[in-house]
Amino acid sequence: MLKATNDTMIVTIDGPAGSGKSTAARGLAARLNVRFLDTGAMYRAVALKCLREDISLDDQVAVGRVARSAAIRFEGDQVRLDGEDVSTAIRTPEATKASSFVASNPAVRESMVELQRQAAKNIDIVTEGRDQGTVVFPNANVKFFVVADPEERARRRQLDLKRQGTDVALVELLQEIQARDARDEGREIAPLKPAEDAHIINTSNLTPDGVLDEMQRIIEVSLGNRGRK
Ligand code: C5P
Repeated sequence: MLKATNDTMIVTIDGPAGSGKSTAARGLAARLNVRFLDTGAMYRAVALKCLREDISLDDQVAVGRVARSAAIRFEGDQVRLDGEDVSTAIRTPEATKASSFVASNPAVRESMVELQRQAAKNIDIVTEGRDQGTVVFPNANVKFFVVADPEERARRRQLDLKRQGTDVALVELLQEIQARDARDEGREIAPLKPAEDAHIINTSNLTPDGVLDEMQRIIEVSLGNRGRK
C-alpha cells in the first residue's frame, strides 16, 4: 500500500447524503487494508439517544450533554451506543432527519471531532463525513469530495430503503435529501463544502469499482514514490 513517509496515512472522503461516499470509503479502506471511520454514524447515534430520551433537539445544552455522555464505539461493522448495537436503529428516517439537527450543535461537534481525532491516532485510516477534510483532518494526505446528481442520489436512497423493506416515493426522498443538504451546507459551524485541496469525484455515471479505481489512481499520483508500506 502507498503511504506518506513515516507518518500515518489519512484519507478523507466528504460529500452530501447519497453521493456514494460511504460505499467508496468502505471499499477504499478495504482495498488499502486500513481502518474505516463512519463519522455520520456518530451523529446518528447522538440523535438516536436524544430521541430515545425524549430530549428536544432545540435544547442545545441538553443535546450537548447527551453527546458528551454517549459511549459510541465501532466493532467491526457494528455501531455501539452505550454498549448496544444500534447499527439498524440509527438508519431510520426519524434518526436520519434528527442527525442533521444535532450536527449543527457546536457542543456536539466538539465532542465528535475529539472522538474522531482519537480514532485516527497512530493508525492509517479512511474517514468519511462532511467536515473531515476541512475541519477534522486539515492535513490529511489525500482528500476527496464526492458528489452525484440529486435524482441519482434519491434513486440510490430508494433502493437502500427497498432493501430494508420500505417503499418510499422518489419525489419524497428527493425533497428529504435536498432539505438535509440545505441544513448541512447552511449551518454556521463546519458546513458541508469541499476542502480547497480536495479532489472532486462525481459518481453519477461511475460504478462503485470505477469510483475506487479513480480514487486509487489519485492516491498513487498524490503519494507517488514517497514510499510503500
Ligand atoms: O453520512 P450520514 O448521512 O450518515 O450523516 C448523517 C448526518 O450527520 C448528516 O446529515 C450530517 O448532518 C451529519 N454529519 C456531519 N458531519 C459529519 C458526518 C455527518 O455533520 N462529519
